[in-house]
Amino acid sequence: MLDQFNRNITYLRISVTDRCNLRCHYCMPAEGVQWIPHNSILSFEEITEVVKVAVGMGVNKIRLTGGEPLVRKGIVDLIKMMSGIPGVEDLAMTTNGILLEKYAADLAAAGLKRVNVSLDTLDPEKYNKLTRGGDMAQVMKGIDAAVDAGLLPVKINCVQTAQTTSEEKEQLRDFCEARGFKLRFIRQMSLTDGSFYPVEGGDGGRCSICNRIRLTAKGDVVPCLFSDYGYNVREYGIEEAILKAVGKKPATGHKNNVNAFYNIGG
Ligand code: SAM
Ligand code: SF4
Repeated sequence: MLDQFNRNITYLRISVTDRCNLRCHYCMPAEGVQWIPHNSILSFEEITEVVKVAVGMGVNKIRLTGGEPLVRKGIVDLIKMMSGIPGVEDLAMTTNGILLEKYAADLAAAGLKRVNVSLDTLDPEKYNKLTRGGDMAQVMKGIDAAVDAGLLPVKINCVQTAQTTSEEKEQLRDFCEARGFKLRFIRQMSLTDGSFYPVEGGDGGRCSICNRIRLTAKGDVVPCLFSDYGYNVREYGIEEAILKAVGKKPATGHKNNVNAFYNIGG
């Protein structure tokens, strides 16, 4: 599926929930989030149908994100439903890793191929502060479980903020090198300011080669992280919503005043 700038759209990122078991300060406020009402959140059947239609239109790579995808009840069943769709070549997940110890083996058995785990520092106290309560030891156990389950290659996502020190970056580099993980540094962005940067070690933020569209938990197909457009699959039908979103993919991102990182999934 080509957009108007001749970019081939092959990658669908799906936010399966806006809920999360952490509250990273750059992503979610501590309190006062207006959660998507339950009846607006797409069911597993609806999400699976979107994937089937998207694959028929040329998508071959799916990533589940959130909020935190592992807090969505029955997530392993959703993976099973998706991995059975012919044409889904790459099925991955971005997670904070807190629940990975519990789910990694089942996710792999259900057909998940690999995970990106968000880990911004190797300092447990700092991790606890920036996630507002997260236990870094739990993430480490989750990463081990992902390796044991064969969810490879494990990639580590590190959001680099003004507080990130060069020493911390070096520690993360050493850790990833020793464990054979791929490390990506993502500079802290602001959707409302329209500030975004190429991801160091990844493809994100490079508009000229962007092959992505996004599906929010309530079913909006969104052309770009930095766009206010969104077309709901319940309102437009799946194919039309995808076509409209692809048609609105901007040459380069602007701003997003409609969504936040926690409901569009980064
Ligand atoms: N909860 C999962 C996690 O943290 O990996 C998945 C959802 S999270 C919104 C997806 C990615 O977006 C994470 O790697 C997170 O670090 C990143 N992210 C969140 N807020 C961000 C911001 N303001 N700037 C850059 N990246 C951000
Ligand atoms: Fe939750 Fe991920 Fe956002 Fe952190 S970055 S608050 S883990 S959704």
